[in-house]
Amino acid sequence: MEKSEFEARVEPQQLTGESRFRFECRPARSCFTQCCRGIQIVLTPYDVIRLKNRLDLPSDQFLAIYTDIELLEKTDLHVPVLKMLDDEAKSCPFVREDGCLVYEDRPASCRYYPVGLGTLRAKEAEASEQFYFMVKEPHCKGFEVEREWTVDQWRADQGLEDYDRANRPWTEFMVRKRSFPSNIRITKEAKRMYFMACYDLDRFLKFVKESSFLSLYNLPPDFLEKIEKDEAARLDVACMWLEGVLYQRGPFQVDEEKARERLADRGKETKETPEKE
Ligand code: SF4
Ligand code: SF4
Repeated sequence: MEKSEFEARVEPQQLTGESRFRFECRPARSCFTQCCRGIQIVLTPYDVIRLKNRLDLPSDQFLAIYTDIELLEKTDLHVPVLKMLDDEAKSCPFVREDGCLVYEDRPASCRYYPVGLGTLRAKEAEASEQFYFMVKEPHCKGFEVEREWTVDQWRADQGLEDYDRANRPWTEFMVRKRSFPSNIRITKEAKRMYFMACYDLDRFLKFVKESSFLSLYNLPPDFLEKIEKDEAARLDVACMWLEGVLYQRGPFQVDEEKARERLADRGKETKETPEKE
């Protein structure tokens, strides 16, 4: 099978956090911002949180304005991809002559570059493992330097630890889904729940407040306040809830007793509702 343009630039060597590489990106380089054009940036849930807050938009508006929704290979699930401008170079909407307009909140893949991040889960293993690889593009002059990093030093320098930590439950969910046999398909409704819980976190909060969510699970008293204030905690909850609903795993499996009480209450309501004349 022929390699894609991106695959052709990936060095065929799996790296660990201790692996070393030489790299330095500087505005003075002739290639400055070339890496921000003609690319595909798949957004993680934490990328969406950071960018929508940076732009002061609710999650649904950010997704509608700045992303295209595409199917992620081998998962049968959709992910938002940053919508490039319709100019000749297909530039990122945030790139300017002097660099990235949203630099402090740029997506994880921009931070990792020129390192790539992959995940693997051995059969029967509880959690997945991260691995890394180098992406060497002909236009990038950042490799022609003495400065040396380990992958872990690079991750710390680029502020990636927060991103990886916040995205971890989502990554686990996706890796688990990828390992499903391809003939097992999840329903449209489940896919809708997945997208809301992972990417449209303002809508997820509304769902928590307005549906039977709070009465179905045994939750701590400060639950709502915490997920209202802390969006990374909300993402954690959303992913755990998805695991419970779709895989019957983790703390968000329906409390049977509460579900029975709810059904009984509903039954009472139906009986008490007078029939229309
Ligand atoms: S192409 Fe490489 S060196 Fe040039 S700006 Fe981008 S990351 Fe930096
Ligand atoms: S978000 Fe910033 S760093 Fe990433 S491609 Fe766009 S301009 Fe470049």
